[in-house]
Amino acid sequence: MKLLVVEDEQKTGDYLKQGLVEAGFVVDLARDGVDGLHLGETGDYDLAILDVMLPKLDGWQVLAGLRRAGCQMPVLFLTARDQVEDRVKGLELGADDYLVKPFAFAELLARVRTLLRRGSRNQEPQVVRAADLELDLLRRRVSRGGRHIDLTAKEFALLELLLRRQGEVLPRSLIASQIWDMNFDSDTNVIEVAVRRLRAKIDDGFEPKLIRTVRGMGYVLEADAA
Ligand code: CA
Repeated sequence: MKLLVVEDEQKTGDYLKQGLVEAGFVVDLARDGVDGLHLGETGDYDLAILDVMLPKLDGWQVLAGLRRAGCQMPVLFLTARDQVEDRVKGLELGADDYLVKPFAFAELLARVRTLLRRGSRNQEPQVVRAADLELDLLRRRVSRGGRHIDLTAKEFALLELLLRRQGEVLPRSLIASQIWDMNFDSDTNVIEVAVRRLRAKIDDGFEPKLIRTVRGMGYVLEADAA
């Protein structure tokens, strides 16, 4: 799942991004309101975390802009101010939840998961499947044939991407930008290595094999591969 974080405080932003990535999310970080709104309008996010006090546009304005543009993703506000009027203002504008700084990361993660569960009720399934492989988006668990499989955060994100777009050949450049947040550099074999490890975990000892390399193009996950 893909999250947008808009936070101008360098340390807080980096800390949030790192923590959420470690929890298995794909995270884009914007440092001001204008960038945040632009990303929010153009990216396909499952949830946004907005700081209130931001340069250029404040969190309220970003939220109002997102809602005007028809973005319905759940929004969690972060603020140093815990006054009642702030909460009311945020909720009136369509914020879904509120967290007062300083907060414990575990608390933020719990709120994020609650919002995603609520937000996904009528949009997307919480479990993505291919053959007997199951990926539970909210509980962040993967199993095949009923057997639990341990994945790293990157492997989880990679598998989620392949599963959501199963049947589609995904170029390495797309995987690089979505999962590693980097431009594709043909000298690096980080993607090959990650795919090989993922494949060993989900395909070794199971039939049918789900992940396939399409030479010169990329990777595809499909249940009924010929
Ligand atoms: Ca701020």
